[in-house]
Amino acid sequence: MQNLISNKSLYNTKSFINGEWKDSENFETFEIVNPSDGSIIGTVPNLGEKEVREAITAASNAFSLWKNYSATERAVYLKKWHQLILENTDDLARILTIEQGKPLAEAKEEVLYGASFVEWFAEEARRIYGDVIPGNTKDSRIIVLKQPIGVVGAITPWNFPNSMITRKVAPALAAGCTVVLKPSELTPFSAIAITKLAEEAGFPKGVINILTSNKPIHVGNELTSNPLVKKISFTGSTRVGKILMQQCATTVKKVSMELGGNAPFIVFNDANIDKAVEGAIASKYRNAGQTCVCTNRIFIQNEVVSEFTTKFTEAVKKLKVEDGQNATSDIGPLINEEAINKVDTLIGSAIENGAKLILGGKRHSLGKLYYEPTILCNVNAKMKIAAEEIFGPISTIFQFETEEEVIQLANDTPYGLASYFYGNNLNQMWRVAEALEYGMVGINTGRISSTVAPFGGIKESGIGREGSKYGIDEYVVTKYLNFSI
Ligand code: ADP
Repeated sequence: MQNLISNKSLYNTKSFINGEWKDSENFETFEIVNPSDGSIIGTVPNLGEKEVREAITAASNAFSLWKNYSATERAVYLKKWHQLILENTDDLARILTIEQGKPLAEAKEEVLYGASFVEWFAEEARRIYGDVIPGNTKDSRIIVLKQPIGVVGAITPWNFPNSMITRKVAPALAAGCTVVLKPSELTPFSAIAITKLAEEAGFPKGVINILTSNKPIHVGNELTSNPLVKKISFTGSTRVGKILMQQCATTVKKVSMELGGNAPFIVFNDANIDKAVEGAIASKYRNAGQTCVCTNRIFIQNEVVSEFTTKFTEAVKKLKVEDGQNATSDIGPLINEEAINKVDTLIGSAIENGAKLILGGKRHSLGKLYYEPTILCNVNAKMKIAAEEIFGPISTIFQFETEEEVIQLANDTPYGLASYFYGNNLNQMWRVAEALEYGMVGINTGRISSTVAPFGGIKESGIGREGSKYGIDEYVVTKYLNFSI
């Protein structure tokens, strides 16, 4: 890794607690693998409960100081951090691709997206407004304050190893909170690298702590049970999100949960099919299909099924499966063997139950973790592939007749994160947008993530919003003062 980046200090193999780079107490480490070729990138400390407690105590001590900085002062550190991330974009992208596999161009896009949250929340720090409410009696005056909630425990996934961190840490720090972060055990180097830049930006010690560990249950137990932690912000699977919510109940912590999805992508007869194909490619094959907002089910209205399927198949055939480090790569490897086995099983079971394979359907000759971009048609709601988050480069095409039918199909899932639809009838667009039970709806677009918009789900896809003016609410508590004059 080191010889591929120019700022060598970004490759670091330690955790960061109370302003110091640390090994685990017993020097236990674990290996990080490059999914592209299975090579070992390096090792990082395998921390346990003791170090988690140490980090929480450091964050708690730092909180008493950091919360009293003015918003403008906190913004100075965030802006410096933002600047350093921008200056190191290429190296951060390279680190991301090596440990996660996504194409370099996407990695760079992610680093810039991640940086945009730091800039945005540096600005939002000064806009954490309270309120003045007319008193209920003639001598009462009611003032509403927003105060930082305290120490935040953040747990992040491997599919966006950079931006899922800044999307949590930046609003937390802007609000005046301090953070103990556990990145995914599969992708700790991106987390370490941006923490290194935070250190350079000069945040006081203990304000940001990062714990590497491949014992997520131990770390999660401590973060969720320790009374000094006031808030847990998690991005990952619905299964783990539910466990964390249960664990947080014992100390009634505030939670933000950004969980799994099962995004429908609907194309009505009057849609612009070329635009729909472009949107489907963007929303399905980004990160090799490994995002929680990835299209999972493509619903095409009867009159345009054949046109869409032909054009879509042509477009998918053009995608280049290559090592993410090659500039021409569109699709890199999947994250691990488990991911490959899952898509293989889902495809096999769909075909057994009547789906038709149009493209792909097997491992790619490039290497163990590469999978061919795949398209299945004749898919129906009874198949397992329709109910589960695929998390791979597999498209499933369903056919429908009426608007009522597709709304029912689209909403027939416990998930409610992203959804997309293409059409041109204004009345229908409003009806469908309002009827979709999802936190986010892309209308004639396959791209919905943005710093300025509230990202998040409903139903079993989560609680809370990230980014936008709403993102800071997750890190403050509301207090009111009742003055009697
Ligand atoms: P994915 O399926 O995307 O890998 P996970 O929900 O398994 O999603 O993991 C997301 C994050 O949650 C990772 O940082 C992982 O280490 C962490 N994690 C997994 N299990 C637990 C747990 N029981 N408690 C706390 N964190 C966990």
